Amino acid sequence: MTGDVEYKLTKKLYEEKKSFVTNLECSITGRDDYKAGEIHGLSEAGRPLLVRYDLEAIKNSVTRKEIEARPGGFWKYREFLPVNTADAMVSLGEVMTPIMPLKASVPDGCDVLVKDEGRLPTGSFKARGLALAVAMAKELGQNHLAMPTNGNAGAALAAYATYAGLKTTILCPDDTPIVNIREIELQGGDTYTVNGLINDCGKIVLEGKEEMGWADISTLKEPYRIEGKKTMGLELAEQLGWEMPDVIFYPTGGGTGLIGMWKAFDELEKIGWIGSKRPKMIAVQAEGCAPIVKAYDEGEEHAPLWKEAYTHAWGIRVPIAIGDFLILRAVRESNGFAISVKEDHIFDCRNRVAKQDGILLCPEGAATFAAWEMALESGSISKNDKVILFNCATGLKYPMPETVQFLDKDQPINYTRFK
Ligand SMILES: *Cc1c(COP(=O)(O)O)cnc(C)c1O
Repeated sequence: MTGDVEYKLTKKLYEEKKSFVTNLECSITGRDDYKAGEIHGLSEAGRPLLVRYDLEAIKNSVTRKEIEARPGGFWKYREFLPVNTADAMVSLGEVMTPIMPLKASVPDGCDVLVKDEGRLPTGSFKARGLALAVAMAKELGQNHLAMPTNGNAGAALAAYATYAGLKTTILCPDDTPIVNIREIELQGGDTYTVNGLINDCGKIVLEGKEEMGWADISTLKEPYRIEGKKTMGLELAEQLGWEMPDVIFYPTGGGTGLIGMWKAFDELEKIGWIGSKRPKMIAVQAEGCAPIVKAYDEGEEHAPLWKEAYTHAWGIRVPIAIGDFLILRAVRESNGFAISVKEDHIFDCRNRVAKQDGILLCPEGAATFAAWEMALESGSISKNDKVILFNCATGLKYPMPETVQFLDKDQPINYTRFK
């Protein structure tokens, strides 16, 4: 099938069916009279809103086989997504991201699979959430979107919004990798660096929302990025033959993906597409920024601001998460845990997996590998567990070690030097 045919087939799903959204619900109070089809930010209690669907109607409208037969990419999960009209759907050519077993970099007998989200448009899984946020903003008539970002989210927002014909203002901490900042700007985002962290950028967006009428697309401050990230759970279930893996290691910043997958599994079970088995959800953070791990260890429901957050795994340098309690709930309900990894261990794992298996993880993805190694060693998971590691972005967007080997073409070459 050519790309164009796939795109038309996917778009047709949106022409033929409306969304199955019934209402939105406050994730902390349960208040559920937030209406579909209206613009929403946080709930009245200042917490994320969750989109609810008529699951019975979804069950009667589509089968697993029909879903499997559709062309790949997250828009295929039409019935589970909030977009109502075909005009709002915005696609940059998404793919179903591959799952690859690690070989030489793991001990014999281990079943460790990498889900490589770096294959999505703009090179990260932020494409999933931002495509949905942009589509919904377009559908609801919002035309200027703003967001703080550590890089990947801004890139995805800029690309999808520009393609959809919407304006964006994007703020990054001034130590964000330069490749990300330039990418965002080139893809049409009005981009600024800020002398602070992502939460400082977030404050400026919040004020600008009042002042300028921007739509605030910050993590979990609008309801639809979760719905996009939810497709990781749907896709994973489909790829594994509607069987759950034993353990999922997820590099956790704002937690959208972990919360989204947990929601996906719940919806799938309610319509009878999967059983009650759940993977253990493991929230992975870096030692220099581990608010969720601290709250998990201390038995708390919320995770206060982590001071002087530090890590070069930028996607998980998130000092405070508005959905902290949702992350912690999913982790605990799943019998999982939260774990932090050392900065050096992250980059050691990135280099090792790349050299031994030819798979270039991003630092955040490498953090999940490091966490898996620690968990295996401490016995919190077993060698026989089927494990999914999320590689959330292409490793190509991050600084890599310098190479040093040089050949002088004008001198005789000593061929014994080649190993
Ligand atoms: C954003 C990001 C994360 C964290 O994702 P959340 O779902 O917000 O926790 C992890 N890794 C990379 C590469 C990211 O860009």
